[in-house]
Amino acid sequence: MATVIKHGLVFQNGRLLHTDVLIADKQIQTLGNNLTAEHIIDASNLLVSPGLVDLHVHYRDPGQTYKEDVITGSLAAARGGFTTVGAMPNVLPVPDTPALMSKMVQNNQTNGRVHILQYGPITKNEDTDELPDYAALKQAGAFALSNDGKGVQNAQTMYSAMQQARENQLLVAVHAQDDSLFNHGVVNEGPAAEKLALRPISELAETTQIARDLLLAQKTGVHYHVCHVSTKTSVCLIRMAKKQGINVTCEVAPHHLLLTEDDLVSDDAYYKMNPPLRTKNDQAALIAGLLDGTIDMIATDHAPHALQEKTGGIAKAAFGITGSETAFSELYTKFVKPGIFTLTELLNWLTIKPAQVFGLKNAGMLEPGMPADLAIFDLAHVKRIKEQDYCSKAINSPFTGDEVYGQTVLTMVAGKIVYQKEQA
Ligand SMILES: [Zn+2]
Repeated sequence: MATVIKHGLVFQNGRLLHTDVLIADKQIQTLGNNLTAEHIIDASNLLVSPGLVDLHVHYRDPGQTYKEDVITGSLAAARGGFTTVGAMPNVLPVPDTPALMSKMVQNNQTNGRVHILQYGPITKNEDTDELPDYAALKQAGAFALSNDGKGVQNAQTMYSAMQQARENQLLVAVHAQDDSLFNHGVVNEGPAAEKLALRPISELAETTQIARDLLLAQKTGVHYHVCHVSTKTSVCLIRMAKKQGINVTCEVAPHHLLLTEDDLVSDDAYYKMNPPLRTKNDQAALIAGLLDGTIDMIATDHAPHALQEKTGGIAKAAFGITGSETAFSELYTKFVKPGIFTLTELLNWLTIKPAQVFGLKNAGMLEPGMPADLAIFDLAHVKRIKEQDYCSKAINSPFTGDEVYGQTVLTMVAGKIVYQKEQA
């Protein structure tokens, strides 16, 4: 059955235009005016976007499905308007063999409500200096490599990993963290750590490893992608490296754009993430980095945890917050409404850019012939973010209670509605 989405403001190929969208056979067929079909979706006063792309999520499946699983994680993505996600491999067991990788890819395909791309690990079990067989992992379905959650401590290990990733044409997405400088910290080194008497994390834990990796990336020519950059110095290093022609890209997480260590006013673990919330100066550099193209894209680092893992104070709590269901509305409300970003810029960083950086040909664009993966957002009405509305199993978000614009009305994957807001 053909469907036409009528009268929406459509984000297509980097611009916004009023047009109808005709969908049939799971694909976008045509964009134009006065299109008709048996099934009509009225998008008057609504934004129609290509499905958002979030290449940094944690689904805890297999191994810790009490936190999240592929079904609830991908439902949370759909509710946030995301239709393609990249799942990190820090699960139990780590998919470091082709058999484990195939099993995960199968589960992602069977149970995912959106497209789930699977990262393979950079090192075996993510905590050794042994490299998995990248060719075999790629063959089994890995789309890129990452040890996210952990830094690769040994430089020779990272050097070999980059050489082999390059040979196998795999992107290496890195959680930059030198453990000796990280020193079991829990919040950014600064006034908040002092006031709350919490163990500090030096920004050097992130920046020194990025500096090392950029030199290794230059030597190997690998596509080196830095996950969740959080400091001004990281942005400066990547800006310099890009000028030198090093094959580097990077992402920023919504919470590092939206919050700083100044928001850490009490011992509340919903503000504990890794990298930690940094200074206002860092936040300004991240915003500037996006605007000048140093930072390529936004990715949520959706990190669900069970209630008991996020209560009882920052010192003992797990790192990470959920992000899928709040990213678009928070960023739209706090950055587009006040005129810091244009809507086009924000959508670019959530659609076209991540697809380009990771070489995804079937994501991020609303074009005839592309899969009918899209999201419809209501930019006009304000809504409070409520815990009981989350599709994720987890509720560990500092954004609960915020009043935001940009609620998702409907999300479609391959022409099928995978999320629809309940009628008010
Ligand atoms: Zn990470």
